[in-house]
Amino acid sequence: MTLEEARVALKQLQEKMSAYGHALSLLYYDGVTAAPRGTAANRGQSMAVLSEEHYKLTTGEETVSLLEFLDAHKSELDEKEQRMVFLLLKDIRQMKKIPMDEYIAHERLVVEAEDAWQTAKENSDFPLFEPYLEKLFADAKKFAHYCAPEKDPYDYWLNEYEEGLNKARADEFFATMRGHIVPLLQKVCAAPQVDTSILQGIFPEAQQDKLSRRLMAVMGLDLDHVGLATTEHPFTTSLGSHHDERITTHYYEDDFASSLYSVIHEGGHALYDTGSDDSLAYTVLDGGVSMGIHESQSRFYENLLGRSRAFCEYLFPVLEEIFPDKMAGHNAEELYKALNKAEPSLIRTEADELTYCLHVLVRYELEKRVMAGELAVHDLPGEWNRLYKEYLGVDVPDDRHGVLQDSHWAGGSIGYFPSYALGSAYGAQFLRKMRETVDVDDCLRRGDFKPINDWNREHIWQYGCLYRPGQLFEMATGETFDPGVFASYLEEKFTDLYNL
Ligand SMILES: [Zn+2]
Repeated sequence: MTLEEARVALKQLQEKMSAYGHALSLLYYDGVTAAPRGTAANRGQSMAVLSEEHYKLTTGEETVSLLEFLDAHKSELDEKEQRMVFLLLKDIRQMKKIPMDEYIAHERLVVEAEDAWQTAKENSDFPLFEPYLEKLFADAKKFAHYCAPEKDPYDYWLNEYEEGLNKARADEFFATMRGHIVPLLQKVCAAPQVDTSILQGIFPEAQQDKLSRRLMAVMGLDLDHVGLATTEHPFTTSLGSHHDERITTHYYEDDFASSLYSVIHEGGHALYDTGSDDSLAYTVLDGGVSMGIHESQSRFYENLLGRSRAFCEYLFPVLEEIFPDKMAGHNAEELYKALNKAEPSLIRTEADELTYCLHVLVRYELEKRVMAGELAVHDLPGEWNRLYKEYLGVDVPDDRHGVLQDSHWAGGSIGYFPSYALGSAYGAQFLRKMRETVDVDDCLRRGDFKPINDWNREHIWQYGCLYRPGQLFEMATGETFDPGVFASYLEEKFTDLYNL
């Protein structure tokens, strides 16, 4: 095979992978949106066949020898091809280090664990889930050891979810956040509380849907390429390439702010994905590079922009138009305050901008200690509750509202949570940099997202997965990551909001 032939084969391989991925994600998307109830097994049948073909394609002899050939000629490839080969080989090489029977047993364990977790959560029955969680943590340690015997197992997983992250960096990040947020939250709780009456009442789904579509257009999403549907849990997915992006939301008629911010959050993910350079479509470089950077974009639109005073000034007249009777007698400032109410709570996914990081911190500390053998899985609920009391000042009534609330551990994802909090902090530094050249508040007041999106596209989106997250971050901001920027942002915002 000549190098030119190998390059063509690399392109064709990724096109095939994208096509399988397209079919699989469309089947999944159909399952959670439009499919009738009784069709899961039918879909499962096709998904099993396609997954097996996809697996054979990505790990088969032919693919491995192609990638190894290209890897041996690395210096003759362009930057994009080098990164494609690196990313494709990384997964295959790791997979080969895990004995096949143990890998299959783990896959089976995850399916059983997710099922047990569902039941355990419904009944608030941690002991039912405990043996599965024991095994999941044991597998996480074992697999980390197979893949990177020289590394600390938890460091291995942190780096898997956010390339470049390790315990030392995460410890420093969380220590900074905790040092600022805990005392700030205590002051917020002691201050007179904000009036949220503007958010109360019944907001019909049809009007909320109108608001969603209006927001998507204002944010600059290309509605010919980005679709909206409703699901139990909101999410974003690309179908085939960044040319077809779907976001979802969930409407609660008594809480319009929930869908409002789901749409902006998922819309942020969609802007990032669809902003990939067109040359990256149908390659492994298409779409966002990591969870942390992805969350930096979604939470950027949701919180840093969407919950700003300037955007509320734009949003209020829009709400007046869509919900005239509900907004009567209120104003933009009331909206801003109500949408930013901060309070200690039990559930991470419902947490406000100020307390969110503390929810993630609890999970980080617990995972780290279990992985280090310093905490037994059996003692997780007690430690969970103790830390919620210490950091957030709340009493956890039962494990359903405590240690059993998230699905991540049941899915075998250990080391995933910190990227959520990191994303929020990355965003604050992106915003500070953006403000040097873009009058962000003026854009938001006018509902003109173009200059903001242009900045993000130029510095972040267009590159897809071409650069490592840390590299991309430093290219965009010209600085190293500094959690103090996010901490100061929170301090300034909430000191002003609560007149502290
Ligand atoms: Zn997200």
